[in-house]
Amino acid sequence: MFTTLKNRFEQGYKTCNYPKEKPAVFTRYRGRPIVQKDAPLEVIQACAAACPQDAIDISAKKIDMGRCIFCGTCEQISQGRFVQFTGDFEIATAQKEHLITDGNLPSLAEHSKQHFKGLFGKSLQLRQVSAGGCNACEADLNVLATPFFDLARFGINFVASPRHSDGIVVTGPVSKNMRTALLKTYEAIPEPKVVIAVGSCALTGGPFVGSPEISQGLDTILPVDLFIPGCPPHPLTNLHALLTFFK
Ligand code: SF4
Ligand code: SF4
Repeated sequence: MFTTLKNRFEQGYKTCNYPKEKPAVFTRYRGRPIVQKDAPLEVIQACAAACPQDAIDISAKKIDMGRCIFCGTCEQISQGRFVQFTGDFEIATAQKEHLITDGNLPSLAEHSKQHFKGLFGKSLQLRQVSAGGCNACEADLNVLATPFFDLARFGINFVASPRHSDGIVVTGPVSKNMRTALLKTYEAIPEPKVVIAVGSCALTGGPFVGSPEISQGLDTILPVDLFIPGCPPHPLTNLHALLTFFK
């Protein structure tokens, strides 16, 4: 006990001050993309041809963040003339079509469901289901429990049983083998309940898009309330989404 108190005294308070202050993210982090609409057509076409996710709409000059894996290829090829990635990690949306963007995102706060804030604003218990993902999305959700993010200080926790939860957080492309387990978990959660899709895989299939072994987006199976893009989404992206949507 004395050692614990001594360590705490020596190490000080480690929790970040978000959302009051935005922590600095790593300089190589790729957040919200900004599209230069006046980029030469041949540059846009070269980016679209090189995109491994078919995430670039040439005619609309927009990027689908639901499909994008934030690999940076388009920024590299265009040398920033078509796409530039910013350090803005606040990129979750309440509607899937809002993920298709030229860099301007609608306010998540304005599109959040007010009755959810009333129901879950003070206490939100979530069950996480990894539905065939690579484990990176899950790892970046796990770190929300560490002292730096300290998700529990907001009354939000991940729980073991769906019967104790208010909603489900799904990662992974929902492989055929995980579909039944996912649906059973969803059914076990009492109403009213929320559904949160985390990561490119859950949003659209991600790197596995087009495979007959997966669903082509969680919203084809369950009614998704909150879409969090990334591959994986930054922990701060998850934190921002949860706080903005439910608080
Ligand atoms: S960063 Fe996204 S849009 Fe650009 S090439 Fe990679 S997957 Fe495609
Ligand atoms: S979205 Fe990317 S990081 Fe997340 S499970 Fe899929 S492949 Fe892994």
